[in-house]
Amino acid sequence: MTRTSPPVEEVRADLWSVPVPIPDSPLRYTLTYLIAAEGGLVVVDPGWDTDAGWNALAEGLKAAGAAPADVTGIVVTHIHPDHHGLSARLRAASGAWVAMHPAERESLAALRSQSADSADGDLAWLRRCGVPGDVAAELAMRVGSDHPFWGMADPDVLLEHGDSVPLAGRQLQAVWTPGHTPGHLCLHEESENLLLTGDHVLPRISPNIGLQPHAAEPPLAAYLRSLEFVAAYDTAEALPAHEYRFHGLASRVRMLLAHHERRCDEVIEILRRLGPATTWQVTTELTWSRGWAAVTGFMRRAALAEAGAHLQHLADSKRVSATSRGPDQADIYAIRD
Ligand SMILES: [Zn+2]
Repeated sequence: MTRTSPPVEEVRADLWSVPVPIPDSPLRYTLTYLIAAEGGLVVVDPGWDTDAGWNALAEGLKAAGAAPADVTGIVVTHIHPDHHGLSARLRAASGAWVAMHPAERESLAALRSQSADSADGDLAWLRRCGVPGDVAAELAMRVGSDHPFWGMADPDVLLEHGDSVPLAGRQLQAVWTPGHTPGHLCLHEESENLLLTGDHVLPRISPNIGLQPHAAEPPLAAYLRSLEFVAAYDTAEALPAHEYRFHGLASRVRMLLAHHERRCDEVIEILRRLGPATTWQVTTELTWSRGWAAVTGFMRRAALAEAGAHLQHLADSKRVSATSRGPDQADIYAIRD
């Protein structure tokens, strides 16, 4: 199978889609969007910070008749490095403002202070999930001074739900869709009937919904609500940050809702089989697309956070009981009768 990236495309008048490569990732690229108007040029999700990524972004800008120095604003749907990575470099080259939802600014600050506080808190969390000691050492967050978020841009502009992106000549509205991250944003342009969906809704992949230590709200409940919210944009073309553009948001939303319902049912099934169990035990028993043995390194952490989010959701909806046994002991989950 050939693994080529899609071309730079002009999706609408003065709106381009640019694939920016992600190193060593099955996702392969982020779809960065360039949106121009008489009032400036906005880049949505500049992509991962590598030279190859920078060159791809510059190529895209060139196709749009512009250069990095012409960019007036940067909006990130969320702060993951495949979206927000290049923002700092692009801001330095252009003087553009950087915009995000306030909850993403908080997450960036929380990540930095958490890493400054050493890895103790993280190891404690892994213990509460029941991760065996040797595995915990392997999974513990290694957030050295080379971690991408240290170099990431803090925002100059905050976009709350319903706010307009500051770009004269176009009406791009922020739609707050917490779940994948606490401050994830979609962007709606009514006149063009399109919704930039970031990682909230992708055509084939189900985005990771995992526990995040600094999230204000249980992530799965937030995600399910945010999914139902964007189903109302069903007539809009969806412009996601990965894979490809698509129509039929409401039906895609129904599939994602069903996916999480099945996942919750599977967790219940596992607890029925195992009896009371830890998050780690449930994680290793869940179905993973290439099998648990193929889930290695950072993916194990994401898997653990995902199982944790479903267990928390089941506990909040009273289908499962959660028992905390103290700071150094694993929490235990069991089916409620
Ligand atoms: Zn992404």
